[in-house]
Amino acid sequence: MYNNSMRDLVRALLAALGEDPTRDGLTRTPERVERSLRFLTSGYKTDVGTLLNGALFDVDYSEMVIVKDIDFYSLCEHHLLPFFGKCHVAYIPRNKVIGLSKIPRLVEAFSRRLQVQERLTNQIANTIRATLNPLGVAVVLEATHLCMSMRGVEKQNSTAVTSAMLGVLRDDARTRMEFLELIRRRNGVESWGAAAEQGAPCVAEKV
Ligand SMILES: [Zn+2]
Repeated sequence: MYNNSMRDLVRALLAALGEDPTRDGLTRTPERVERSLRFLTSGYKTDVGTLLNGALFDVDYSEMVIVKDIDFYSLCEHHLLPFFGKCHVAYIPRNKVIGLSKIPRLVEAFSRRLQVQERLTNQIANTIRATLNPLGVAVVLEATHLCMSMRGVEKQNSTAVTSAMLGVLRDDARTRMEFLELIRRRNGVESWGAAAEQGAPCVAEKV
């Protein structure tokens, strides 16, 4: 009855949910879902190397560069439900910097895929390290997981916080504190350390 096109799979899914895929409100749903999912996973098609390579500049500058409060939207790979929030990125250049607008593009390239929050965090940090060879990199993600809040899992309003710290941002406590102070200001989360301890919802979920 159904072949394997995404639209037919969505029709099959609607039928399996007990819906009538032919009723008025649903007739065009399969093509909308397909278009939407292709957009939300368009990061698979982004070549991160190409994205970054045109925007590297040699500098004699070694102060921390911070881009904070980058909005991101991703899909959790366990439930195919959104998780979204803010991403903060910092690095300390060794001899290269990258155009600032490229950092949100990098976040987008990795978030528009099926993800878990920890891997998303690490991929952003590792890519910056591999591309710029900086003295240090830090990435912090604060996210709400709809697979947790919509399914009524406890602590519905909690934020999952993940971080990846590399180089001097991992090893030097003062540098790390400077970064944490800078992102804590005005970003809405009073104490991300406390939030991190609330326990991660879908993050690292084993089931
Ligand atoms: Zn999930």
